[in-house]
Amino acid sequence: MSLNIPWLAKDTINQVATELLIGYEDLTGQTLSPPIPVEDIIERYLDLDLHYVDFSQKYGLDNVFGALYVKNRIIAISESLLNDRNEGRLIFTCAHEVGHWCLHRRHVEVAGRTAGKEGAVLCRTGRTGKLPVEWQADYFAGCLLMPEEMVRGAWSRAFYIESGTMMICNVKKTFKTLDLPDFKSFDTCVENWHLIADIVRTAGNFSNVSKQSMIIRLQELGLVKNLTSNSMGWGRFKQATSEAHN
Ligand SMILES: [Zn+2]
Repeated sequence: MSLNIPWLAKDTINQVATELLIGYEDLTGQTLSPPIPVEDIIERYLDLDLHYVDFSQKYGLDNVFGALYVKNRIIAISESLLNDRNEGRLIFTCAHEVGHWCLHRRHVEVAGRTAGKEGAVLCRTGRTGKLPVEWQADYFAGCLLMPEEMVRGAWSRAFYIESGTMMICNVKKTFKTLDLPDFKSFDTCVENWHLIADIVRTAGNFSNVSKQSMIIRLQELGLVKNLTSNSMGWGRFKQATSEAHN
């Protein structure tokens, strides 16, 4: 059973993520700053249960990295991500499932009722192109973990510029540098995407997001513009697919 959801504008998705953060600030009475505590948002603010499970062993589900069980108010994350040394992937998956909760839960409930099943979303890695429902949850996760204002603030602190776009014209480095994360005079090229991402990540204390997520967000916000035909990041992202499930 596939999940059909309406098209959503990026601004709309961003607005939903922003309102969630404001609601969490109201609850805690504290102004948020990175790293965004997405697990606490899930448990304390949204009042959802967060479980780490072995999908393959417990449910016989392969390639599932996250799931949302709407009726039971459970977000389940693959245990394998706990062993992953990249905390960013685990946190991003949590934020992705929050995106399904905030953007899609009513559609999931309706789809479940129609099929006479309990509504759930299973998120899998797969080879097909990313479905709109998965793209929306990913975009939401970026907005939640890397709020625009905070990224722009980190950007200006990192590169001493208030605004403006970093144009990436070359794929390979044209001059040799030390390539240290705190060394700002490096060649801004595709090959050095991880340095650009890491400098902003450090400047803004975005300690729970990956460099990959940050470089995507910087391009989304127009702070980095890649004029080459090579994409920035660790090769191609594993594409995610999803399905509504009982
Ligand atoms: Zn998903």
